[in-house]
Amino acid sequence: MRRCSSMSDAKPCIICVAITGSLPSKADNPAVPITLAEQIESTHEAFEAGASIAHCHVRDDQGLPSLDPDRYGQLQEGIRAHCPGMIIQLSTGGRAGAGRVRGGMLPLAPDMASLSVGSNNFPNRVYENPPDLVEWLAGEMQSYDIKPEVEAFDLSHILKAAAMHKASLIRDVPYVQFVMGVKNAMPADKHVFDFYVQTVQRLFGDVPWCAAGIAADQIVVNEWAIAAGGHARTGLEDNIRLDRTTLAPSNAALVRRTAELCAKHDRPVATPTQARAILGLRP
Ligand SMILES: [Zn+2]
Repeated sequence: MRRCSSMSDAKPCIICVAITGSLPSKADNPAVPITLAEQIESTHEAFEAGASIAHCHVRDDQGLPSLDPDRYGQLQEGIRAHCPGMIIQLSTGGRAGAGRVRGGMLPLAPDMASLSVGSNNFPNRVYENPPDLVEWLAGEMQSYDIKPEVEAFDLSHILKAAAMHKASLIRDVPYVQFVMGVKNAMPADKHVFDFYVQTVQRLFGDVPWCAAGIAADQIVVNEWAIAAGGHARTGLEDNIRLDRTTLAPSNAALVRRTAELCAKHDRPVATPTQARAILGLRP
């Protein structure tokens, strides 16, 4: 690995791997892990490649999105057994169901959970996050000592996170993820990205944040985030290709691609221990 004098004091970059999601299928890319065994194996490969957070959804026996807490529990157990120290983040996203069923897995007390704090459009529907549900999910996360990752699909979501922090609905300074490139939501626009970063720094100070780009924007947003001192999300949930004509052979391949960008920008890839310290999580 290339070393340079600035590297020792460079900020480590946390790589989050979003292994499965709700949408991609084997027909889209055979490498998408669907069964629990596939998910655990794929996460392990990604962990070995440098990912320190696993962002997880589960599927049912038909491969359809599921919110089954038992499945989530088995996945969490498998990842804990095979990827020591890896941060487990369970999705409470709304593609697999509506209402409080979205938080049915929170009693499993994962390290982290995703939290959407406002509504926006998705490619073919409205992504509904009504205020009472958002508050309930945030309350559950506090009860089970789970760190929320605020999914910012729009600028207002960052300011909503600040308001929730002020109202003690989010205990720690919010860890915000900018999601860019979802069709009909915020595109991957560099000016907006820069303003997102400025807004987080104005509201919260010099705090960690991360960003995700969808499909071909994944690599673009990865590089923006890494260059700007943020953390990066990759994985087959957001993007199934290495380039226009090549399917990604694995989640690990996407993690390696992100790790190469870290090297290019003199950011060491964070170990799970470093990632836990950066995010203020229990060791
Ligand atoms: Zn997700």
